[in-house]
Amino acid sequence: NPQEGKIKFSHPKGLYVLFASEMWERFSYYGMRAILILFMTTDMAAEGLGLTTETAGAVYGLYTASVYLMTLPGGWLADNIFGQRKAVFYGGVLIMIGHLVLAIPGSPAIFFTGLGFVALGTGLLKGNISTLVGELYENEDGAKRDAGFSIFYMGINLGSFFGQIFVPLLAEYNWHLGFGLAAIGMFFGLVAYRVFAPKYLENIGMEPKVKSVPKTGKSNMSITYGIIAFIITLIFILQYFNYIDVTTATGIAEALGIIIVTITMGYFANILFNGGLSLLDKKKVFVIFILFVGIAIFWSGFEQAASSLNLFTRDFTDRFIWGWEMPAGMLQSFNSGFIIIFAPIVGALWVRLAARNINVRTPIKFAIGLILLALGFWVMVEAARVAASGAKAGMFALILTYFLHSIGELTISPVGLSATSKLSPKKYLGQMMGIWFVGAALGNLIAGLIGGNFDPENVLEMPNIFLNVVWVSVGAGLIFFAASPFIKKWMGDVT
Ligand code: GLN
Repeated sequence: NPQEGKIKFSHPKGLYVLFASEMWERFSYYGMRAILILFMTTDMAAEGLGLTTETAGAVYGLYTASVYLMTLPGGWLADNIFGQRKAVFYGGVLIMIGHLVLAIPGSPAIFFTGLGFVALGTGLLKGNISTLVGELYENEDGAKRDAGFSIFYMGINLGSFFGQIFVPLLAEYNWHLGFGLAAIGMFFGLVAYRVFAPKYLENIGMEPKVKSVPKTGKSNMSITYGIIAFIITLIFILQYFNYIDVTTATGIAEALGIIIVTITMGYFANILFNGGLSLLDKKKVFVIFILFVGIAIFWSGFEQAASSLNLFTRDFTDRFIWGWEMPAGMLQSFNSGFIIIFAPIVGALWVRLAARNINVRTPIKFAIGLILLALGFWVMVEAARVAASGAKAGMFALILTYFLHSIGELTISPVGLSATSKLSPKKYLGQMMGIWFVGAALGNLIAGLIGGNFDPENVLEMPNIFLNVVWVSVGAGLIFFAASPFIKKWMGDVT
């Protein structure tokens, strides 16, 4: 079908510039993330940071959550001051500096400074580069735009795939060589962007979108102050009664979790009650809230890949293939590999089903994604039981888990993002996309905290840690199944 070929190959050249830049950025992000918790929990004698698993898990959660939270100010800065194009470039520079700082062997202070740079830089780059992709297709129809984003998602996973192979390989010789390779990856991304963006992106994203900042109403401000006062009081009470300890990394991570949850609830309550929306729109916004909860639960399991699952791989998995021991972090690459292989297949499956008049609705897809997450962790429960018996688990268990999680990711993540954008009232679109990243932030934070419970000395506890994740995700999946008729109704004309 010549028509099909034409649609396939008529993407704007700018897409490939953004593809290459994001590919290298993700190479650096996921490559570094694959060795992050391993480096932090390795003894100082072996040139690691020598942190306890609990602290390392909390730092992992705080770092990965910040990366996604920073996309909110990053988006604001691009919209109001820099424009997307400059924001992406500055972001890339900060990321590269961050990885270079990580490449300097030294104290934890140097290390945390490096992480801070990467988080700030990713905040400027990650969301804004996706906005640029969207702008390439501003006047195009939905199908072509979706195809553009699918190609872009391939770039993300190609970069992650190779980053998670080569950074852990180098880190076997020296941790800081691994971090240095991440910096080099980002450098390539910047070069691609600098050389080709002016030619192929033309004028898009050059100007900040918002010339004047709309005034915030009085009622809005008092709600904001109310929420801040509530959060401070709550954290103070929890600290006073020793439920959390904000002088530790874990306590700070827990406090951040409380802050994220409270602000998100306040945000949704405000839009629902003060947003001036019709009943129809209110129902849709409520559905976005439900999807937010679903995606946060999903990521809180999924993102344990580089926390608890990574530690499990290092300490309790037989990683020998033909006499060669695969570095633990390298197993992370299976997720991206599976995404590259199965993204087109899962995409085609929905189209096939739709052609037979079987339309799998968004809440059902969320349910399937959550159940797949649970199945993956169930495999881990069994693997942990093997470890608890004193033997090493086979690598196949982790590969199977990553397979189930990757299919889950494909079922839930693109679907949720596109449903959110369609359900959102126009005037809140930017903010709702931000909420999507907040869901990722919350999930990553919880994934770090759960990873912190992983105690290599207490092998017998391990199956239980994974079993809890199974129950939560099965429970959430079943709730999505049961609630799907209502959710479907509230979604109105959005399919
Ligand atoms: N792997 C995807 C990316 O890096 C999605 C990650 C996420 O949203 N948590 O873009």
